[in-house]
Amino acid sequence: MSERVYLSAPHMSERERELLIDAFDSNWVAPIGPHVDAFETEFASVVGAKHAVATSSGTAALHVALRILGVQHGDDVLVSTFTFVASANSICYQLANPVFIDSERETWNMDPQLLEKELKRSHRVGKLPKAIMVVDMNGQCANYQSILQLARMYDVPVIEDAAEALGATYQCRPAGSFGDISCFSFNGNKIITTSGGGMLTCNSEAWAQRAKYLITQARQPAPHYEHTEVGYNYRMSNLLAAVGRGQLSVLPNRVGRRRAIFKRYQDELADLPGISFMPEPENCESTRWLTSILVNPDIFGADREAIRLKLESLNIESRPLWKPMHLQPAFAKYRSVTNGVSEILFRDGLSLPSGSAMSEKDQASVIACIRSLRASTISRVHKPKVPASPREADLAIG
Ligand SMILES: *Cc1c(COP(=O)(O)O)cnc(C)c1O
Repeated sequence: MSERVYLSAPHMSERERELLIDAFDSNWVAPIGPHVDAFETEFASVVGAKHAVATSSGTAALHVALRILGVQHGDDVLVSTFTFVASANSICYQLANPVFIDSERETWNMDPQLLEKELKRSHRVGKLPKAIMVVDMNGQCANYQSILQLARMYDVPVIEDAAEALGATYQCRPAGSFGDISCFSFNGNKIITTSGGGMLTCNSEAWAQRAKYLITQARQPAPHYEHTEVGYNYRMSNLLAAVGRGQLSVLPNRVGRRRAIFKRYQDELADLPGISFMPEPENCESTRWLTSILVNPDIFGADREAIRLKLESLNIESRPLWKPMHLQPAFAKYRSVTNGVSEILFRDGLSLPSGSAMSEKDQASVIACIRSLRASTISRVHKPKVPASPREADLAIG
């Protein structure tokens, strides 16, 4: 069998090795050091933030963001339901209640109309949420024009979960510049990686200081280590920051490659009936971190699971879109404000191999596999176990 084609494999350039060896040789093999400081400075400038604080993961950055905003036991935090579990988990670490908000069709991100509905309701009952966590799915920014207007109107701070969106822009501003606090991930499958790591960005010097304090066990400046509150060991290692600096220096190249991969899939698959692509609104430039398609089995002749299994049989990894958090057993007890969109995305959506290091030949195999499945138009249609909602071929606009 040929070598496995991964959904989004790490992609190193030469510079990472040099920087890593420099960190190693200088004996800064610690969760602080000159590469951490330099990575933070360079990162802040790339995303247009005044301050950046490197963390051990994106999840850790989200958790600390919630701490900084004072989220605690019993508070409500509004969050996109269509996301990776880390967004919701971080809220539960604070014993706060996630309230899941469904997606809009245009961006697949948090629907401003549902957000407004929930803010109105919470205002009426006299318990506004402590924060709104907006996720930039698949490398595409949410509709910040509407979302930030609502957040300001109700005076609720925004955490931008930009873990998947480093390098994207919205109205010519970089992803990560929309939240009062924004969070990024350098996990192995993200657009750039440090093997594991994250970043918190903000414009407040006081918040950045507080983040650094919380991620180093909340240590007061006393030689005997005085502690007045609970902290975490969430600091990034100097070795990994060295890798991050190398990766950051090739970010535009990585974004360009992911977008080219998306374009090729679109050029070579868009003629297939029943296949549509994640839309990209006019004022948005997505990184196309993952190329995601929607499959209408009634028209295509096979569903997304049949495509996934066919690809798997050729040792090619693909993945259904996120199962919405409001359908996850772990979060069943929390409120949700839904419109059916994320359930359709989960039922019909599939992400195709999109790593920037993927070869032209491997992408050709993915395309050929999907085309051949359409050609054979077998109807072993397997129904995903999701509550039924009307099938809408026009979910993807554009
Ligand atoms: C990857 C990811 C995270 C978590 O990042 P880690 O570095 O893996 O902890 C959070 N939110 C979203 C949307 C992600 O995709």
